[in-house]
Amino acid sequence: MSRYAEPMARLIEELKKLPGVGTKSAQRFAFHILRSSDDDASALAEAVRGLKASLRLCSICNSVTDVDPCVYCSSPTRNHRLVCVVEEPTNIDTVERTQSYPGIYHVLHGTLSPLHGVGPDQLRTSTLVARVERGEVDEVILATSPTLEGEATAHWLASALRGLPVRITRIATGVPAGSDIEYADEVTMTRALEGRREL
Ligand SMILES: [Zn+2]
Repeated sequence: MSRYAEPMARLIEELKKLPGVGTKSAQRFAFHILRSSDDDASALAEAVRGLKASLRLCSICNSVTDVDPCVYCSSPTRNHRLVCVVEEPTNIDTVERTQSYPGIYHVLHGTLSPLHGVGPDQLRTSTLVARVERGEVDEVILATSPTLEGEATAHWLASALRGLPVRITRIATGVPAGSDIEYADEVTMTRALEGRREL
């Protein structure tokens, strides 16, 4: 039996579902929201609702967007023949922070992970393969993290694209081995992109 009133217990339970939020943090957030003004609490609730109502995945690259195609895929100044493949939508920010990447993206929404039952079928690769098959892409840069899963994913994707008329490259290990590219700073990421090699 929870020692909190039902609305408070319910909010704490929901907050605990967020990554990295344990019971203590969830309680702290819930009491903060309780003490905040009606306007602030409503704004938070509305932001959560609006996120689900207005955001979708880009039908071309799978990035999270409120317009389809997304700002990258519809940009007239981007090089649409250069595609950087990343694991998660947040990885796009890591590459964008370099302010030197001219191409567009493809988001896989995960990596191969046999231990967790994630096989090739679970990765969102079909629109990328179709773009390459149609001859719309000159180079695919595999910018998955240099972790075990990220490397396995890069090599699987390289073999899936092999034989198609496209250059396949892998970012250099300027990103420390075993780390997530989400935590790479812009200098490291710029070097990783510049030092990419053929796969
Ligand atoms: Zn897009």
